[in-house]
Amino acid sequence: MMKDFERLKKECMEEVADIGIEIGNIKEWKINTRARSMWGQCKKNTDGTYSIQIADRLLRDDRISEKACKETMIHELLHTCKEGMKHTGKWKVYAREMNEEYGYNIKRTTSGNEKGIENYKPKSLAVKYVFTCGGCGATIYRKRMSKFTKYYRNYRCTRCGAVDWRRKRQNMETWYYTVVSIDGDYANLKRTDIESEDLKLVARALLPEGIREGTQLKYELMQYSILD
Ligand SMILES: [Zn+2]
Ligand SMILES: [Zn+2]
Repeated sequence: MMKDFERLKKECMEEVADIGIEIGNIKEWKINTRARSMWGQCKKNTDGTYSIQIADRLLRDDRISEKACKETMIHELLHTCKEGMKHTGKWKVYAREMNEEYGYNIKRTTSGNEKGIENYKPKSLAVKYVFTCGGCGATIYRKRMSKFTKYYRNYRCTRCGAVDWRRKRQNMETWYYTVVSIDGDYANLKRTDIESEDLKLVARALLPEGIREGTQLKYELMQYSILD
């Protein structure tokens, strides 16, 4: 379900104005459908107006809350405010005020997969559905709901012809780790949610960018993410 962009825009502007922060002259809000590496962006035009872009994933992705979406919108809005273009100085003060007043978590750029953060490398969507063919053992992974994920029982396996797809239940458990050491392309992880001295060696390609020793990680739906 697409979020109501117009309403959210209005709410954000009102909330900012309500605590006495003056918003700059915004020429346009654009929904960016191609942005893969940022949530939002604010550009100052030569005529002194501002153009704000918001990644459409924020509006489309149901896993992203309205609040997280607004955090990005307000993050960008604050860039239009007086001396707010940089994340230091005034922007930081405005953001803190918004956070204190409304309970937001507006931050400058950080690494990780937290929602509402611009300029980070988004993690790919987690695999949600796994199906195996009862005939030949072929496995299909799907990240989104589709006709197949709904009606897989009726589908024929293109490899062996069997109509015998079975859904494999995903492990819905969440595990927590800390990065104990990094060794080239691998990292040693240790569980922090249970008592265990066992280390798990994981290829860094599977881990979020920006990890270092001591980084806290969450493992959920076959994906690792950084905990703040
Ligand atoms: Zn920013
Ligand atoms: Zn098959």
